[in-house]
Amino acid sequence: MTPLFLDLLPGEYPLPDAPAFRRRQIAEWVFKKRVSSFDQMTTLPAAWRAELASRFTLGALGLARSQGSADTTRKFLWRLNDGALVESVLIPASPALYGEPSDRLTLCVSTQVGCAYGCRFCASGLDGFRRNLSPGEIVAQVMAAETESGSRVNNLVFMGMGEPLANYDAVSRAIEIINAPWGLGIGARHITISTSGLVPGILRLAEDPRQIRLAISLHGATDEVRDRIMPINRRHPIAELIEACALYRAKKHRSLTFEYILIEGINDDPAQARLLAELARRLRARVNLIPYNAVQGLRFRPPPAARVAAFAKVLSDRRVPATVRREKGSDIDAACGQLRLKTLRGEGPGSPAAAS
Ligand code: SF4
Repeated sequence: MTPLFLDLLPGEYPLPDAPAFRRRQIAEWVFKKRVSSFDQMTTLPAAWRAELASRFTLGALGLARSQGSADTTRKFLWRLNDGALVESVLIPASPALYGEPSDRLTLCVSTQVGCAYGCRFCASGLDGFRRNLSPGEIVAQVMAAETESGSRVNNLVFMGMGEPLANYDAVSRAIEIINAPWGLGIGARHITISTSGLVPGILRLAEDPRQIRLAISLHGATDEVRDRIMPINRRHPIAELIEACALYRAKKHRSLTFEYILIEGINDDPAQARLLAELARRLRARVNLIPYNAVQGLRFRPPPAARVAAFAKVLSDRRVPATVRREKGSDIDAACGQLRLKTLRGEGPGSPAAAS
């Protein structure tokens, strides 16, 4: 396949004698003016345009399917140049979500096609791992979501399909492009990487000077619970994970977040809440409680509302900052990997089966 131009930084544009202003000009055509072909870069000499067009592909993905939710969440299924499918979810802020009106527009992006980590409750892992995304394929999700929605994304979470820290180099480069003033200009403080607990990646991120936020998908406060639903815990048990988080916190002087999906009968009992509060207090972490978004074919369910409230109360009684995140987009398969899975399995419009 022809290399993707979006994978490059301006210093790597293959025009050896091009002065810096020319490189800036090209970046401006790509990231600010959002041209779809090299030919549209009319300030460049024709020979350069032809050279770039002969060696690179500018477009990284196309829209395969999109679903809007009654709560304004919008999910996109993208088809990459090799035919693989990945998802992004656009989540406008709402008073119910953040407590006050906000112009925050969050995009949740994918970093891998499928996922090798096999968390039991997750649709993304069901079909296994296919490949890592390239930096340009990650950046392109943001650009395409902006084009589709007509709005600027100003908050980014690496919480979609895949384990971002297992594709560290590509994610890091994508963030460089997303963060740069010549790129998409989204500040590092508005970028969150969420990991299922890949300790070596957390330690590496701790050495990164950028102020990227870290969220841990904890989903259980004991090894016994995490072992049941997250195979990664057998490799990096809670004690090791918490130690890495403490080191991250000490190095970066930044607070972190625990994501905790509440699943009925699995991790929603008050004993887990008490232990979670202890861990959060130790790291001064805030907690996002997310009632499980049911996935077709999996047996897990969200707990009843009263049980969610009781769990949250245990945390607030211990003065742990915690939010119950409203289930956004539950009517549009918003749980990570669900739309892709349905499409791959030929359910609904836009699926390969429906198209054939
Ligand atoms: S929750 Fe994240 S790490 Fe776990 S299987 Fe799903 S995508 Fe992979």
